Amino acid sequence: KNQALLLDADAIRRALMRIAHEIVERNHGVANMTLVGIRRRGVPLAHRIAANIGTIEGEVPPVGVLDIGLYRDDWEQRPFSNVDATSLAPNRINGQVVVLVDDVLFTGRTIRAAMDAVSDFGRPKAIQLAVLIDRGHRELPIRADYVGKNVPTARAERVYVKVQEVDGMDQAYLERD
Ligand code: 5GP
Ligand code: MG
Repeated sequence: KNQALLLDADAIRRALMRIAHEIVERNHGVANMTLVGIRRRGVPLAHRIAANIGTIEGEVPPVGVLDIGLYRDDWEQRPFSNVDATSLAPNRINGQVVVLVDDVLFTGRTIRAAMDAVSDFGRPKAIQLAVLIDRGHRELPIRADYVGKNVPTARAERVYVKVQEVDGMDQAYLERD
């Protein structure tokens, strides 16, 4: 198998710090902001971005968790979509800027489901999207506001994202057969 490194640990750290700066700049601070990590690897990424925002602004935004049911290692098969938003609450959504955070943006279907789930809880002031990797191939009119790295891919290629909290290391790479 042919593997190509996309981001090493330092590159991931810098990308998450840049994204934190971009979020703060775009929103003129951190007031009325909630980050929502999409399980599985979007959750630790959301916590790291939140911590970075805390370093920049002196205030750490709350982090919610959304489980769209596509997070398992069989994401290529897309077997089902179960939305579990148990950590979200209306008072965290109404009037808030909700920043969804995920590891990889592909067709956009996960983010569409996440936006539906968030909207079921209340009426956010705005929903924004941060992803570590945008690999293209959108099937819906969805784009990310904050991107760690844009990676043009073939459909058959796979992007692997490893994060310390889940995988014991930080790395993103592309694999072709
Ligand atoms: P989408 O719903 O946009 O097609 O796919 C995005 C979701 O599926 C993300 O939650 C992401 O974790 C997962 N995913 C889709 N494609 C890939 C990929 O190439 N690599 C990895 N690591 N995850 C992917
Ligand atoms: Mg996922």
